[in-house]
Amino acid sequence: MVIENKDRSWGMVIDTDKCTGCNGCVIACQVENNVPLNDQNKFERGRVMSWMRVERYWEGEFPDVKARFIPIPCQHCANAPCEPVCPVYATYHNNEGMNIQVYNRCVGTRYCANGCPYIVRFFNYWEPIWPEEMRNHLNPDVTVRSRGIMEKCSFCIQRVRRGARKAKEENRELKDGEITTACQDACSTQAITFGDLNDPESKVSKLSKDDRSYTLMPQFNTDPNVIYLASIKVNKEESQEEKAQSHD
Ligand code: SF4
Repeated sequence: MVIENKDRSWGMVIDTDKCTGCNGCVIACQVENNVPLNDQNKFERGRVMSWMRVERYWEGEFPDVKARFIPIPCQHCANAPCEPVCPVYATYHNNEGMNIQVYNRCVGTRYCANGCPYIVRFFNYWEPIWPEEMRNHLNPDVTVRSRGIMEKCSFCIQRVRRGARKAKEENRELKDGEITTACQDACSTQAITFGDLNDPESKVSKLSKDDRSYTLMPQFNTDPNVIYLASIKVNKEESQEEKAQSHD
């Protein structure tokens, strides 16, 4: 049964102004997608695996400095630099705007990871080891990957497929907001929105046209399906002036 809908373009909008850097999305992604556990050894070797990371940066000058955060998953680029370099077509673009990774086709050349400017692809250098007490915690909807293959954020494709199947069984169209990703569900500030960018009425589509919207590294012309909303800068002097005026 083919469930793909040719008119869709799944995308994500991440509001950096709402992100508090709590890393809840990172943990939710790890649990949902059976991402191998990272230990001290992996950190020391620079081999940490995480389909989503939250980068921290500083804005302003001391003492008027503020910590800012930006969560970074696979950008699911329309012009993905990782796709043409794969010699076995293990990574390709589907007709729903997603960058797909076919695990059992991957031969581990890692060309795709070198081609990705966002550094969101991870190679399994080791066979993942799951503690005995966690074996029943693995998500049965997601393949447990083995050593020697490349992996990355899939936009929780198992959830997308489940939602599409359910809509089809009920003989109706998918509703906006019906499918959510694990990172989106975990975000306490609702900084993450997921949906169909081709639907002009979807929340994600409207947010993507916000004045604050931007994409990462536009100079590479990758045309990502992950769109960011810029954080709002408050001019301290102006806001103090406004406060003073409101007290007058
Ligand atoms: S869960 Fe939400 S607030 Fe926390 S780091 Fe992720 S995007 Fe930011």
